[in-house]
Amino acid sequence: MLETEICILGAGPGGATAALHLANAGRPCLLLDRATFPRDKVCGDALSGKVLSELRRIDAVLPARLEAAPVQLPSWGIDFYAPNGRKLAVPFKPNYNATTDHAAGHISKRIDFDNFLIWEVRRRPEIEFREGVDISQHEQQPDGRWLLKDTSGTPVALTRLLLVANGAQSSFARQIGGHALEPAHHCAGLRAYYRGVRNLHPDNFIELHFIKDFLPGYLWVFPLPNGEANVGVGMLTEAVSKKKVNLREKLTDMLATHPALKDRFANAERLGPVRGFGLPLGSKRRKLSGPNFLLLGDAASLIDPFSGEGISHAMVSGRHAADWAGRALATKDFSTPFLTGYDKAVYNRLGQELRLSRVMQRLLNYPWLFNFIANRAANNPTIAETLSMMFLDLDMRERLRKPSFYLKLLVGK
Ligand SMILES: Cc1cc2nc3c(=O)[nH]c(=O)nc-3n(C[C@H](O)[C@H](O)[C@H](O)COP(=O)(O)OP(=O)(O)OC[C@H]3O[C@@H](n4cnc5c(N)ncnc54)[C@H](O)[C@@H]3O)c2cc1C
Repeated sequence: MLETEICILGAGPGGATAALHLANAGRPCLLLDRATFPRDKVCGDALSGKVLSELRRIDAVLPARLEAAPVQLPSWGIDFYAPNGRKLAVPFKPNYNATTDHAAGHISKRIDFDNFLIWEVRRRPEIEFREGVDISQHEQQPDGRWLLKDTSGTPVALTRLLLVANGAQSSFARQIGGHALEPAHHCAGLRAYYRGVRNLHPDNFIELHFIKDFLPGYLWVFPLPNGEANVGVGMLTEAVSKKKVNLREKLTDMLATHPALKDRFANAERLGPVRGFGLPLGSKRRKLSGPNFLLLGDAASLIDPFSGEGISHAMVSGRHAADWAGRALATKDFSTPFLTGYDKAVYNRLGQELRLSRVMQRLLNYPWLFNFIANRAANNPTIAETLSMMFLDLDMRERLRKPSFYLKLLVGK
């Protein structure tokens, strides 16, 4: 059994980021994952600009290294399809130049992106990385340390501080962290890979389709390297059960019949099965720490409730978790009141965005409002540019909360 000061459970973007920041600070840690990397993870595979800035914080060379990797595609914007079928093209940067600018977004299969981070992990002597270790029991000792056991009941590690980054199905987060699955704050998602989808955007815009009969859910088509595409659907779990939606049937049906999709998918080939996974949304503020532990990423329910973005949020929490782990070791204080500083740091960074996205998520219940914005923006470049700026500037996004934004749209200014 390994005895350690810091153990990280889960080596996805949250856990790997925490381990790398700890290594940067010269702090050793044990990193455990039940998978063997490279491993797949059900996801839309879209990397926002925030992922690049988190990579930069780990090591200034990482963004360029990712951009140079053939396993990613740069993406320059989003094509929104409103419920009335109208397409609204929103570049991440207004007037971008795809040959000279750096793209704000990227798309990379998780089997590749997560392995990109693990490749960094493997280079750091401070990180003891153990794969293929499935932790199923966590027992707190009288001295506060956590004893971790695998599925056979064999003790694997005894740690002073546990960083829990084992994803959306974390039993630690449910049983000890108190994060019950709440259908109003949880999304169901399905993903499939395709080859041969026609008319993908030449600058790799990601596509979000808000289809009338499928609201408040949405369908995405994200271009990938080698002419492939990530195609999927997401819907609030509460709405899935209320409306008794069969997501798999709906996905097949929409790809075969929807006017904006059917011709483009007519000759497309699905690669592998349609796979499902849950998204614990950050639409509700929760407790992220407790005695001798911190929750990170999906285990901390930090996914953006509008966009489904969770990779960068996991990385943000990983960075703050490494910081607070260092503080706890320095002061020898692993108590709940002390570690609450971690909760504050994470919500200081992400809280405002999560609240705004909650507001935008609710807009999905008003298809007419969506149609209206799409119609107006299609005829008015200033409005389209305002929407574009919203991806870069949070203050601009604040405008969506203000009635004056809609009033201006109404009068066409
Ligand atoms: C359908 C879908 C689409 C999505 N699309 C996007 C998108 O396009 N962009 C985006 O930014 N986000 C997206 N997300 C969210 C994103 O996938 C997650 O937010 C992100 O993976 C969270 O990272 P994490 O490190 O917290 O957890 P994970 O990436 O889930 O990593 C957890 C790790 O813990 C390990 N683990 C689990 N249990 C154990 C155990 N018992 N013992 C040891 N190890 C264990 C796992 O093997 C895994 O490697 C999507 C999610 C879904 C479901």
